Amino acid sequence: MNRNERIAIIGAGMAGLACAKALRRKGAAVTVFDKSRGLGGRLASRRGDGVQFDHGAQYISAHTPGFTAFMEACLADGAAALWRPDIHDGRESKGGSDKWYVGLPGMSGLVKPLADGIDVKLSHTATSLRREGEEWALGFQEGTTEQMFRTVVLAIPAEQARSLLRGFAGAFPELHAVATAPCLAAMAAFDEPAGLSFDVRRFNDGPLAWVARNSSKPSRPTALEQWVFHAAPEWSRVHLEHDKHDIAARIMKEARHLFGPLPVPSHLSGHRWRYAFVEKAAGTPCLFDPALRLGLAGDWCIGPRVEAAYESGLALAERIA
Ligand SMILES: Cc1cc2nc3c(=O)[nH]c(=O)nc-3n(C[C@H](O)[C@H](O)[C@H](O)COP(=O)(O)OP(=O)(O)OC[C@H]3O[C@@H](n4cnc5c(N)ncnc54)[C@H](O)[C@@H]3O)c2cc1C
Repeated sequence: MNRNERIAIIGAGMAGLACAKALRRKGAAVTVFDKSRGLGGRLASRRGDGVQFDHGAQYISAHTPGFTAFMEACLADGAAALWRPDIHDGRESKGGSDKWYVGLPGMSGLVKPLADGIDVKLSHTATSLRREGEEWALGFQEGTTEQMFRTVVLAIPAEQARSLLRGFAGAFPELHAVATAPCLAAMAAFDEPAGLSFDVRRFNDGPLAWVARNSSKPSRPTALEQWVFHAAPEWSRVHLEHDKHDIAARIMKEARHLFGPLPVPSHLSGHRWRYAFVEKAAGTPCLFDPALRLGLAGDWCIGPRVEAAYESGLALAERIA
């Protein structure tokens, strides 16, 4: 890699930002683009009117030495805290053996240190990628003029990468084997106690996969009881195209069926994660074509975890350099 090489990274989730930070340290001129208005991708929180929900990734555990060191540094710097929920699912005793890290003040707090000093352009949806001589021309939905880069990284879900790489389908056969499950979510706040005797409940079958008292996480608003409900993959597939109000209402109906009567929520909203959990990974830390100078990273390279996204982003930075 030449010093000051112009590199575009599409995706400001954990994979894209870990990659960006590592390349920046090596002297590259990195620009990160994301279609959203905020950083973090599936490390996401929704805020408003005294409520806050982490409706994507719930907590993070760390196993590799590198990611453990990163998470411990986040703890020391105040970007993360430990969550010790009361778990009722018969699979794990209170708190479990792993540390459960959460971002501060929301889950995306974990990626903010990675974005420090990086040129990040939000509300930029990459829609086209074409070769022009030795360079890549990158086009955006928002109508801004194409931008030229020597190297391009796609740090987006595999299905979205496939669509952007239509013209280069043969370049990465591993990409086509990846499968991802959706997850529909409901966020509910109650003015009165919900009467649920746990902070976290996980299910191996049935309509719901995960129920968590978001307000039991450190430094979250506690004036109201705030809960996040995640539907199981099969249920999510069946209801995927329903509108978000309907998704939330149906998930609450399933919750009442499981737990009995719940108070009427003072806030209720739904979210559709079309590409939530990697079901079949590429089985390689990252993909890189040195002739095209085109790389791919993301959780889908390794597995369905934030840690996998981080490791994939770093692996790609090494390949590019
Ligand atoms: C409901 C849910 C619960 C989860 N729970 C956990 C958990 O408890 N623990 C755990 O470790 N993991 C969990 N995960 C998985 C974890 O969130 C992911 O593994 C990880 O965040 C993936 O990071 P990433 O950088 O690979 O992708 P993403 O976070 O998806 O980042 C990709 C980014 O690319 C952007 N993008 C996509 N297409 C374009 C485009 N064309 N142009 C510009 N930008 C684009 C997106 O806006 C997004 O910001 C959960 C995920 C979901 C959805």
